[in-house]
Amino acid sequence: MKAMRGYWGYLAAAALIVAWSRGAESAIILVLSLAVAVYTSFALPVWCGAVNRDGRTYCRKNAAGLLMGCSYRQHRWQKMKMIVLRHKTGSVVQAVFPTAKEKFAGVISVGGLLSAIAAVIVPVFTG
Ligand SMILES: [Zn+2]
Repeated sequence: MKAMRGYWGYLAAAALIVAWSRGAESAIILVLSLAVAVYTSFALPVWCGAVNRDGRTYCRKNAAGLLMGCSYRQHRWQKMKMIVLRHKTGSVVQAVFPTAKEKFAGVISVGGLLSAIAAVIVPVFTG
């Protein structure tokens, strides 16, 4: 069950794809989309990705969510700043998405957000 808890966001993403392909109610799609976006931002098991004190390597401690850092409060702030201000210290993409797994999660995260927006906008045009 522990693995389930860590990866329920992927199940939500899969359910979201099914919901879209079957033309489910926009309310259902919206809920699933937000679940995916929230999961990847605040619950997904990833590396911290903050820049270490040597300025060249990235923190490899475990963190929960693409927007969150590890147990060091300073790292959490630094990561937020990197994302918001496009910090010059390093590539945010490399820091936050160091491996294919994290890149995949990033795609799901963006997809969830786009899906949430689409779930709101599409019914306006289709009635
Ligand atoms: Zn860290």
